[in-house]
Amino acid sequence: MDYDKKICNCPNCSSGVSFDITDKIAKCGMCKSLMVISKNPETGEFYFGTENDQKVICTCPYCSANIICDKTDEEVKCSLCLKVSLLSQDKETGKYSFGNESRNKVACNCPYCDATIVSNKTDEDVKCSFCGRVSLLKLDPKTEKYSLGDESRNKVACECPVCANRIVTEKITGPKECEFCNSILQLRKEDDIDFYYFDVISKGKESEESHSISM
Ligand SMILES: [Zn+2]
Ligand SMILES: [Zn+2]
Ligand SMILES: [Zn+2]
Ligand SMILES: [Zn+2]
Repeated sequence: MDYDKKICNCPNCSSGVSFDITDKIAKCGMCKSLMVISKNPETGEFYFGTENDQKVICTCPYCSANIICDKTDEEVKCSLCLKVSLLSQDKETGKYSFGNESRNKVACNCPYCDATIVSNKTDEDVKCSFCGRVSLLKLDPKTEKYSLGDESRNKVACECPVCANRIVTEKITGPKECEFCNSILQLRKEDDIDFYYFDVISKGKESEESHSISM
């Protein structure tokens, strides 16, 4: 028998699976299950499990495939359905799982095209890589859930009343020039309903018949 080879039974179908003791993961030749190879520190015996000190197996929430990843990974792309999940560890149980949030990242749906966008929790402006539109990342203090919308901590996205393009701006700001039509706008807030909008101070080129005016 090869000194460096060991055999353990697959936890799924009980077939014997041989592996090299330097390997970190093993795959059952019969049922194709993935296993993390672990070693009992007391007995020195090897066994198959769902995690060891570096690796962990989680189930893809989209296609149920088993994916092995490093415990330090945050964004994990499923090799079967190619969707991205975020790896997190439950503070109480210590168990790893895939979901919408990891230590530093969060996955939210684009409000325009519904694509899933992964962003850093510290981000405010998030650009959708599918439709190209910018949304703002907000944390709801009550539910502790992140979502993408028209408002974040410091910024707000409003429509330019002249050209109807969405402009992201700081909440506390002086007049702002629309990058699309060059109109000069002032952000205002309807306090009762927490609604932001732009007042037009001067109209840019979109309001003119010709494009002769430039600012
Ligand atoms: Zn098996
Ligand atoms: Zn998948
Ligand atoms: Zn989008
Ligand atoms: Zn405009």
